This record gives sequence, C-alpha cells and structure tokens, in this order.
Amino acid sequence: MKKVILVMIDAQGFETAVQRAGFLEHLCEVGLAAKYRVACGLPSSSRPMYETILTGLPVSEHGIYSNQTVRRSTSENLFALTRRHGRTNAAAAYGWVSELYTDHAPFDVFRDRMQLDGSGDIDHGIFYIEDTYPDSHLYADGEMLRQMYHPDFLLIHPMNVDDMGHRHTAASREYGHASEVSFDQIAILFDRWREDGYDLLVTGDHGMDLLGMHGGNEAIQREVPLYIVSDAAEPGDYTDHAISNLNIAPFICDLLEIPRGEHMISALEIVPKGVASK
Ligand SMILES: [Zn+2]
Repeated sequence: MKKVILVMIDAQGFETAVQRAGFLEHLCEVGLAAKYRVACGLPSSSRPMYETILTGLPVSEHGIYSNQTVRRSTSENLFALTRRHGRTNAAAAYGWVSELYTDHAPFDVFRDRMQLDGSGDIDHGIFYIEDTYPDSHLYADGEMLRQMYHPDFLLIHPMNVDDMGHRHTAASREYGHASEVSFDQIAILFDRWREDGYDLLVTGDHGMDLLGMHGGNEAIQREVPLYIVSDAAEPGDYTDHAISNLNIAPFICDLLEIPRGEHMISALEIVPKGVASK
C-alpha cells in the first residue's frame, strides 16, 4: 500500500513556484512528475483552505469560514479517515492545524507544541505558532516524525513563504527566496522519501498578491501549484487550465487505498496513470 507526503506550503502562489521550484520543474520536464494549476476555494485564506484541502469540502459545507473560526473540524478529514481505516498519520504544521484536528483548541504552545502521542485525529504531531519558525527546521520536524513513526500519511506545512509575502508582497525578492528555500528542502529530502515508498504532493493553500495580501477572488490570490510524484498520476504539464483543490483529498484517499469521505467529489480532474498527457 502506498504512503503519502503532502507538502502544503503556506501562500505558495503558482507563478512564483514556476520561477523558484527548479527541482520539481525538472521532474516534470523529464516526465517524472505531474504539474497542475490549482485554483483554491474561497475565501483564499489559510484556515478555511487547510480544512478544504484536508476534507475535500468547500467552505460553505465544512463551515470554517474565517481564520478566526477557531474550533475542531466537524467534517471527515484525511487524518480521521486514515485512522478509521487502520492507517497512521503525522503532521508537522502550524498550530491552527492542531486546533482543527486534535482535542486542543485554542492552541497553547506550552502544552500543544509536541503531540507525539497525539489526541483527536492526528496520531503524531509537532506544531509551531511563530510565522518565522524556520522552514528548514519545520521540514526537519516532519522528517523526524516520518523516521520515528513511518506514518502512512504525513503533512508538512511550512509558513515562511506566507510571512515574507505579507511583509514584502508577492513581487519581492524575499517572497521568492522563501519559496526557493522551501522547495530546496524538498529536493534535499526527495530520495529518502521515495526510497521509503512515499508518493509526494506539493501544493499551496492559497496565493499572495502584489499588495502582500490574500483572501479574495483573484487569480494571483487563488492560483497555486500542485506537483504530484506518484505512479498513480500520469506525468505531464496540465497547467493550461485550473483545477479545484477539492481534488486533493479524494486523490490522497485513493493513493492510500482508503474509502473517500462521503461528501468528497467523485470525478477527479487529476489524470490517472496510463492516460496520455496533453
Ligand atoms: Zn497569509
């Protein structure tokens, strides 16, 4: 059975990914990865999109309308589904992910930072709350969880790209550099992940605009990349059109060979292996 790593880079816009994700772009260029343009749901805000990506539901259905909606998820999500079907999970992620999927909300960094024997839906978690927590250390947290627990599903969720975007805008050198640093961690870890049997998805929860904001209905705020390295996805460049981020959760369920959540979409726009790429 497959195992899956989902890297959700906070505020990683599509165009900056193309400009800075040289290693992943290489994998696409040589036919080892698939590349999609994803339009995130609305609002193009963090907490609502964490929930959408991890449940496969639009905001109107899962009810996390705002970053200020601080409560446990009430919807079927990838953590709960993996546990229900005998698979294990782990997360190295922002404290808001802990608030959504563990028994602890609001997040208390002195109590909730390390949840190695987790509560709620997350088996093993390491969480942070400073937007400046270095991505290099966050990836190391995720890799430590992976090596300790061999989870079937691992979420890695870095925040420095969002932080630099808010401070300096999506047009800045700082935002681009933060993206480059994050993508480079993936390149560093790539072989050990693949050798241990993990499929890989890399995406963003939402984009970032030229004023240093997101939340609204505009391509630069909504469009993020989705890179997929998996034997189940036909390699190729599918970025001539945008697909919905509602595809991500059910696709991961399929990879993990667990039933999809009851209300996830059924017709995926991700091209399965064996179907000729465009
Ligand atoms: Zn943000």
